[in-house]
Amino acid sequence: MKPILFNFTDAELEQYIVNMAQPKFRAKQVREWLNRGAPDFASMKNIPESLRKELDSGAQTLPVKIIKKLESGDGETTKFLLELNDGEQIESVLMRTTYGNSVCVSSQAGCAMGCKFCASTLLGLKRNLTANEIYAQILVAQWELRNDKFSEKHIKPNGDANNDDVSHIVVMGTGEPLQNTENVIDFIERANSQMGIGWRRITVSTCGIVPGIDRLIQWGRPINLAISLHAPTDELRSQIMPINNKYKLSEVLDAAWRFTDTHNRQLMIEYILLGKRDENDEIVLYNASLEHAERLSELLRGKNCMVNLIPWNAVDERDFSSLSGNAVHRFQDTLIKNGIHTRIRRERGTDIGSACGQLRLNNAKK
Ligand code: SAH
Repeated sequence: MKPILFNFTDAELEQYIVNMAQPKFRAKQVREWLNRGAPDFASMKNIPESLRKELDSGAQTLPVKIIKKLESGDGETTKFLLELNDGEQIESVLMRTTYGNSVCVSSQAGCAMGCKFCASTLLGLKRNLTANEIYAQILVAQWELRNDKFSEKHIKPNGDANNDDVSHIVVMGTGEPLQNTENVIDFIERANSQMGIGWRRITVSTCGIVPGIDRLIQWGRPINLAISLHAPTDELRSQIMPINNKYKLSEVLDAAWRFTDTHNRQLMIEYILLGKRDENDEIVLYNASLEHAERLSELLRGKNCMVNLIPWNAVDERDFSSLSGNAVHRFQDTLIKNGIHTRIRRERGTDIGSACGQLRLNNAKK
């Protein structure tokens, strides 16, 4: 396996370059390119061609390699299928929005959580990602923003974010971040200090690992927390999310309120609206009846939170159905009537298989 220069310390990189009979300052130049996300040595324009070639034959730049890049029809979403050094594959997504450029990163190769509606967990957990492997996903997106030939067709954010910079991070790709908490924390610290991404523009989404939430509280950075709730009762939640057998709804929410109280932050609740086919092949509401909306309201009333209603992205292997816009709106109306902040998540990149783990799964099936 070729060494990955991004993973080297500055001293190691310098030694590597000096061993190639090159002056030390070349190491600095290479480092600058690596920090910008250069995917290959050929992009390193101020390095002599002979050295670029020599580097290329002996080493790799980043700990991730782009295997596939998919662009949604509207040009707003780019999805990357990335390969790690040991051949594992992960996904990341760049979303160009009116408030900035947001990147959704994976924290694990695969997932052990076994949620019944999700594609990411179908092949099980392969391994945790290193902090460098998570960080490299941001670099890939940053490079894309700055070098991308489609950019004229992309919408430009009108916020204070630089158009060509990653401004927001969501740890919502494949994997459960709070099963890889220390590397995720390390990654976020670096995204903040090296890329200048503010704590409040970073969101970690969890299925509800209570000790992990407590670790985030102890860590103390005012990031955003999102909880994948998806059901308002333990009985229903345990059917679709095995983790609920370990940490019950009330324990998860208590931990989440402890987090939001610490930082005076709004909690994001994720709630996928699911239907199921009955024996007459009719689609019935699974977790999305008005009674479920009432139960959800009871759990959240008076709390500082926002419910993100998520239309389910169909996964062939999964036995659920997506619901019509009407069913989604009726559910939302009940929450609003009860004074619960809510919005419907806009679907992005469904034409390129942007739901969790779809691209990786489809590639593995081939
Ligand atoms: N493990 C973490 C983060 C990854 S999942 C968590 O559970 O929060 C990110 C979000 O996408 C979660 O809310 C997850 O439940 C949701 N999700 C998974 N599969 C989906 C699908 N097919 N359609 C829509 N949302 C999905």
